[in-house]
Amino acid sequence: MPGLVSIVGRPNVGKSSLFNRLVGTDRSLVHPEGGTTRDRIEAVCADGNRRARLVDTGGVIPAEKETLQKQVREQVRRAISESALLLFVVDARTGLVPLDSEIAALLRKTSKPVLLVANKADTPTLQAGAVDFYPLGFGEPIPVSCTQRSGFPDLKKRLFESFQGAPEEEPAPSLRIAVVGRPNVGKSSFLNALLKDERVIVDVAPGTTRDPVDVPFQKEGRSYLLIDTAGIRRFSKIKDEILFRSIRTSGEMIRRSDVCLFLIDGTCGIQKEDFQILKLIVTEGRGVVLVVNKWDLVKDVSPRKAEPMLRKRLGNLNIMPVFFTSALTGQNVLRAFEAVDKVKAHHTLRLETSRLNRFLESIRKNRTLPGGSPKLRYLVQAGTAPPRFLVFGSRPPSPPFFQYLERRLREEFDLSGTPVQLTFREEKRQRG
Ligand code: GDP
Repeated sequence: MPGLVSIVGRPNVGKSSLFNRLVGTDRSLVHPEGGTTRDRIEAVCADGNRRARLVDTGGVIPAEKETLQKQVREQVRRAISESALLLFVVDARTGLVPLDSEIAALLRKTSKPVLLVANKADTPTLQAGAVDFYPLGFGEPIPVSCTQRSGFPDLKKRLFESFQGAPEEEPAPSLRIAVVGRPNVGKSSFLNALLKDERVIVDVAPGTTRDPVDVPFQKEGRSYLLIDTAGIRRFSKIKDEILFRSIRTSGEMIRRSDVCLFLIDGTCGIQKEDFQILKLIVTEGRGVVLVVNKWDLVKDVSPRKAEPMLRKRLGNLNIMPVFFTSALTGQNVLRAFEAVDKVKAHHTLRLETSRLNRFLESIRKNRTLPGGSPKLRYLVQAGTAPPRFLVFGSRPPSPPFFQYLERRLREEFDLSGTPVQLTFREEKRQRG
């Protein structure tokens, strides 16, 4: 039985039209649910071979404001309790109104996934204006138009993606890890040390003779996937491997991963090409753990001394946990690997709008801000993996202020190992 999806929102935003559009040609499957007194229509929303049960809660709209609010609250509570996913519909033509914010407050209390749908986004201008709903705190609003029949492929895609992420669904997919770095820093040796460890159980697919490209393995009941280990092994065999080729290969591996174990050679410090790879990881928005390998060969400096120097050299790329390892002796290899889980948690972190705005308030109180005092109104999280934030205000803040804001965000909320994206949006006045 597929999970239940409910459509919620204040009256007149187009909930029923949305229901009809999503159900589409499967209208024949619509049947009134037995045993309920209210009119309640359930139908199947399909996309390829995936199915979701969609509920149109409908309901009569009372004239008085008080009863209306009560009814809406009741509708939302019920939808929360019985659904695996909620579609929260707002009206792109009217913009944000107070009742939307009230519904949002109720929806924020649930841990179930909520998709924010901005209906009636009939024109490109109205579609672009959907960003005005970010402050509701449900990430990127999805603009659709039931009359123009636009935006539905994207909505369906997001619907089924969120569905898979719902708590009652399948266990979490394996965390995808890429081991990247220049040639000869010890990637292959690091992999061998890791996979040889008896606490790591390598899943060998029965009946395969060739070297699998991605190696699935488990540790303490958790599943991981090491990306393109064959590639690492193959390249390390090529003596005169050209650097740009290794960087390009890294790029492909980085894009396929959630978190990168980024290796450098401890005997020669961080090099220009290392920076290139690290920048690639950050611009691709992947999580990262820095591994300083071959540390057994470094006799005269302790990690306590080396780490601050290294961090200083990293400048604004100093965003991640650092481990000093030896793939040869196995020292710290497992510890470096274990940091991946933490980084993944930071990478997929979701911060509540209320927490973010308390944080912004504390920033505003600081009278000695770098780059002057910008007029900022609120801060919301627009997405995750990596965490993406939007800051709304009447005029754009200066680049130094942006850097300062990012640094303070990292200090306030634990974001070690994940890049963050911070974007400014000019605020539009709330209507209604
Ligand atoms: P890759 O090209 O990054 O995969 O590097 P390899 O794993 O092939 O290692 C390159 C060379 O460095 C090999 O000769 C390894 O034995 C050596 N090596 C790798 N890791 C370490 C380490 O932690 N300590 C020492 N002393 N040698 C290492």
